[in-house]
This record gives sequence, structure tokens and C-alpha cells, in this order.
Amino acid sequence: MLETVLDNVGGLSKRHTPESLRALLLARSTRRPDGCLIVQGYGTQRGVHQKIAGRAWAHIVAYAVFVGPVDPTLKVDHTCGVKDCVEPTHLRQISHAENCRTRVQAPTCRNGHERELDPATGRLRRQCRRCNADAQQRWRIRQAAERAASLTPQGMAESKARWDAR
Ligand SMILES: [Zn+2]
Ligand SMILES: [Zn+2]
Repeated sequence: MLETVLDNVGGLSKRHTPESLRALLLARSTRRPDGCLIVQGYGTQRGVHQKIAGRAWAHIVAYAVFVGPVDPTLKVDHTCGVKDCVEPTHLRQISHAENCRTRVQAPTCRNGHERELDPATGRLRRQCRRCNADAQQRWRIRQAAERAASLTPQGMAESKARWDAR
């Protein structure tokens, strides 16, 4: 079989050619003042990846027919961050690792605790253990205070004594 730019585009219905897809994409898109070319795929949801020409992702089709063959080991990424944009100059192929790296991680949590490295992913943990522990402590104190407030003066004193004894 002859290799074509459409080889690695999944979900395309057979009758399409690069020419028909270029025409289809342009017919279904609108240029925005910021330069994005917004495609309207099937379904009513906007601002998300769009499907066209069967069950194919519009941004992947656009990459193939306007930029070149799709490398199936890489991801088609939007430099503009607009998921329903098919402007060829806003599309590029990057590896999954590169995709992760572009999202910079802060070395500390928002309370200044140093973040832990997750050995499974090589990334910093999203959750801060110390913040979690602090939050749980605050929750326990609040629970105890609420319980105490609903008790009789005597019960309140007992509850306080129990709490203080901890
Ligand atoms: Zn764009
Ligand atoms: Zn923290």
C-alpha cells in the first residue's frame, strides 16, 4: 500500500483524501482575531478537541494535511493551548515526556514545604504530606470544638479534659 500523510490518523472514514480534508477543515473553521483557527466538529461542545470526517481528531487531521505525516509515537500538541484550534502553525508534535516537562513544577507547596519526589513518576508529588497532616489536625480540633459546644457545661468540661489529656 502507498504511504500517505493520512497513514497514522485514526478514525478517518475511507472516502477522504488530503485534499477533501483540507477543504472540510477550512469549511468548518472560523479565524479568531488572536490567530486561532477554530474548527467546529460534531457534537455541541466547544473548546475541546473536535471530531470530524468520521471519528478522527480535527487537530491531528489538520497536522497531517497541512504540516506533514503524523508520528504515532508523539502527541499533536497546541502551542496556543486552544484545543479546538486547527491553525497549522499552532500545532506541533512532542513526546509525552516533553509534554510533562513543559508544565513547570514549583519546588515547594504554597505553604513553603519542600515537595517530595515521587519515585514512581520521577515528578514531585502534587499532594503535600505536611499540609495534609496540618489540615487533618485542624479538622480534629474543629470537630472537638463543635462537639464540646453542643454539650452541657459539665459534658463540655469533660470533653475539654479529654482533649487536654491528649
Ligand atoms: Zn491556536
Ligand atoms: Zn505543604
